[in-house]
Amino acid sequence: MGLRLYNTLTRAVETFTPLDPAGRQVGLYCCGPTVYDYGHIGNFRTFVFADLVRRFLEYRGYTVRHVMNITDVEDKIIRRVAETGLTLAAYTGRYETAFFEDAQALNLLPPHHRPRATEHMGEIIALVERLLARDFAYQAADGSVYFSIDKYRAAGRPYGCLAKLNFDEMRVGERVKSDEYAKESVADFALWKARAPEDGAVFWPSPWGDGRPGWHIECSAMSMKLLGPSFDLHLGGEDLIFPHHEDEIAQSEGADLQGPGQPFVRHWLHGAHLLVEGRKMSKSLGNFYTLRDLLAKGFNGREIRYLLLSAHYRESFNFTIEGLQGARSALGRIDECLSKLEERAGAAPAAATEVDPALLERFAAALEDDLNISAAWAAVFDWIRDLNRRLAEGALTPTQATAALATWRRLDAVLALGGPTAAEAPAPMLALLEARQAARRAKDFARADAFRLELKSQGWLVEDTPKGPRLKRT
Ligand code: AMP
Ligand code: ZN
Repeated sequence: MGLRLYNTLTRAVETFTPLDPAGRQVGLYCCGPTVYDYGHIGNFRTFVFADLVRRFLEYRGYTVRHVMNITDVEDKIIRRVAETGLTLAAYTGRYETAFFEDAQALNLLPPHHRPRATEHMGEIIALVERLLARDFAYQAADGSVYFSIDKYRAAGRPYGCLAKLNFDEMRVGERVKSDEYAKESVADFALWKARAPEDGAVFWPSPWGDGRPGWHIECSAMSMKLLGPSFDLHLGGEDLIFPHHEDEIAQSEGADLQGPGQPFVRHWLHGAHLLVEGRKMSKSLGNFYTLRDLLAKGFNGREIRYLLLSAHYRESFNFTIEGLQGARSALGRIDECLSKLEERAGAAPAAATEVDPALLERFAAALEDDLNISAAWAAVFDWIRDLNRRLAEGALTPTQATAALATWRRLDAVLALGGPTAAEAPAPMLALLEARQAARRAKDFARADAFRLELKSQGWLVEDTPKGPRLKRT
């Protein structure tokens, strides 16, 4: 039936058709992290969702060009830079590096492009100039340049279609300088913010004087530069619908770079928020977790990825530590079955065609239906139950076991959870394993055993296999 995705713009599930006339290339932009702190588990829910979209498109044979920007200048960052006394680059660089380490722990495919806002001043300024030339923007008395909602609407351009704003019922404020504001305060928003004393050394020259870009214009400039003025998919968390994405549409379409009848973005996809213990995550409630907090508690990226992948992206997801423990046992069930399959398969060869087409079809059909991951998981767990039964009955031939493993590998191109051999152990555990190996090589078996016991006390079993030792969760 083809891939169907919910489009926030139309509030309907639509068949996904790429702009590419050949139907192969897909441009995907996902708003990236604001690198002012470590990424929290809510942020990573959105990035795991984007990874699922990308991986499933690739599974379906599309060639995806994935762009994720790095917001390395905006209001919150400037405040932190002023507080710490670091340079902008030193401050944001630390969190950008941490973000990509976290992304790797979650097995997120690296985007093809990760443009930084601070490296796109030329494109940002050129876009603001186009908006000024079309009279959709103006410079205010404070020197900042604003997007004029009145002028844009007076020219017959729609504003508010993504967030479904009803202008008859609202009063439009004069202007808003801050990057984040609510629907109730719809107003002319800043494209270029004139340098203020609290900005310190964070400013760039522009035709309107020294200053810095607004957050929204960063994404318009970078997405259109790398994907063209009209592209297929734009993703982000639901909090970005307004004002960020609404403003992106106005700026990008206001610049008139698209061909006739072409929108800036065809499909807008938004992931629902993650709550913790039923409430919005917040430091003051003590329910705020960075990815690093969870790794420090002894959970690994694979378990966290599994949990974040377990719910439909449009449903808000309630994160709990018990849920993470549940993820660990669910993965344990998968791993146990895969290990048994490996044992049963032995060295049996599998022909390339030997996969389980029924499972692959059921799995793909579920994901084609607006990424119905729950149905996809149901297919996987039915399959595992069936395999376990056949393994227990001795009814599975080595060739069938090999085929089942090949099937899992196909699915795992989308799920990216690996198998038991790929069980990801945290670096300190791998270091202990290496120390054990070194002791064994030196024939110091007592020491080697001490390392093994240390690993066991931390929840990891050493298994010696013909391919070398590997770690498995106890
Ligand atoms: P930020 O680093 O704040 O710019 O956010 C990066 C991404 O995380 C954006 O797509 C946000 O919409 C998303 N995000 C922020 N908080 C949450 C949350 N609690 N649940 C899911 N996604 C979130
Ligand atoms: Zn953005």
